[in-house]
Amino acid sequence: MKEINASEFEREVLQSERVILDFYSTECPPCEALASKFEDLSRLYGNDVKFLKIFRQGNRELAEKLGVKSSPTLLFYNKGQEVGSRLTGGIKRSEIIRTLDTMLPADKVKEIKSLIKPSVSEFDVIILGAGPGGLTAGLYLCQSKINTVLIDIALPGGQVRTTHEVSNYPGFIEPQAGYMLSHNMSEQTKLCGTIYKVAVDVTRVDLEKKEVVIDEHETVKAKKIIIATGTTPNLTGAPGEKELKGKGISYCATCDAKYYDNKEVIVIGGGNSAVEESEYITRFVNKLTIVHQFDKLTANKQAQEKALKNPKINILFENEPRAFIKEGDKIITEVENVKTKVRQKLVSDGVFIFIGMKPNIGLFKDKLELDQWGYIKTDEDMRTSIPGVFAVGDVISKKYRQITTAVADGTIAAMAIAKESD
Ligand SMILES: Cc1cc2nc3c(=O)[nH]c(=O)nc-3n(C[C@H](O)[C@H](O)[C@H](O)COP(=O)(O)OP(=O)(O)OC[C@H]3O[C@@H](n4cnc5c(N)ncnc54)[C@H](O)[C@@H]3O)c2cc1C
Repeated sequence: MKEINASEFEREVLQSERVILDFYSTECPPCEALASKFEDLSRLYGNDVKFLKIFRQGNRELAEKLGVKSSPTLLFYNKGQEVGSRLTGGIKRSEIIRTLDTMLPADKVKEIKSLIKPSVSEFDVIILGAGPGGLTAGLYLCQSKINTVLIDIALPGGQVRTTHEVSNYPGFIEPQAGYMLSHNMSEQTKLCGTIYKVAVDVTRVDLEKKEVVIDEHETVKAKKIIIATGTTPNLTGAPGEKELKGKGISYCATCDAKYYDNKEVIVIGGGNSAVEESEYITRFVNKLTIVHQFDKLTANKQAQEKALKNPKINILFENEPRAFIKEGDKIITEVENVKTKVRQKLVSDGVFIFIGMKPNIGLFKDKLELDQWGYIKTDEDMRTSIPGVFAVGDVISKKYRQITTAVADGTIAAMAIAKESD
């Protein structure tokens, strides 16, 4: 592995056989998360691919010329030509390997794979998920001198990292950018000394044995596990939804309704959360249209009656969204009548989607006691049905899912564990 500067780019990159080039910056958590993976892979692939690093701030002109806009960015070159897709953000080891393998002959790839040695590391506690719940548990455990590792399939921060603004987290007078709030939470826990293994592939979780296998070859063992893997909102799957998430499409009324004072919004869904959240959103908006796929709402009777009486709420039955398009400040929701197939465009200032959430428990759902919606059941100390396994935050069975409640759960689990280890 070698550090280069812009004047060496021509010789070291363009005139070489195979190269992987890492544009990194300082004070860049995703760059820190990548550094050990890059170093590790350079030991495996280093005889066949040149591993180069270049400091982006010090080589700004070259970065701009190459269109590198964020740190870290990984570029791959074969005989002077850029190949594969650029990787950026929370880069996983498996993503790098996928591109490197396309640059090498199959027998070489096989030879390199045979060199990968399984490794084992041991801790007191494994925390799965570095959102507010996991980060808080990590902080409290670390301050209790309990050797803890935080494992996340993405960069730390959880849902807060991609939330536009947070105005209800205590201690801040002004609304905080979600990525800053999550960054501060993460840095506080990391500075304390909690070990991070983030942007990894979680290959296997054995809750009974308290073992987690990451990136296929690394086994992490502990005496206890805290599950803090949060939830994922169900998506409509309509084109434009992913692109407009956080830019006009929201999945959280408590978080975002206040930004639509005197405006007009669309709500997709017709179950309990869609109807109850619609009622809440009408505290702010002038007009709200519920788009529901069936000819009746499926929410409980009481919520339905309230919604039907609410003069701000209109309901468009038997329609499903087909596309979301941003036009200036407005969101156009193209909907289709499920019977007549007639489409129409609804113009609004924002869209809320409430078609259910799913707890992120795919790797271990068969082992734990869950509630009827698939959330993990816990006792008041956040213990699950498996001894030594705790669960905190949005993934557990509870009524209210907010940053403050996730943080509280993380605190409780960590304090219960610390007490047990006294
Ligand atoms: C758009 C939006 C806006 C919001 N705004 C607000 C707000 O303004 N105020 C507020 O209080 N709340 C808000 N919320 C709710 C809040 O973000 C959540 O309640 C909170 O983040 C829950 O924290 P958590 O730690 O339980 O889970 P999450 O924040 O969801 O974090 C879970 C973490 O686990 C990781 N993970 C998932 N699966 C695995 C796995 N198999 N192995 C390892 N790691 C895994 C994920 O990558 C993630 O980092 C908002 C939610 C959304 C979606």
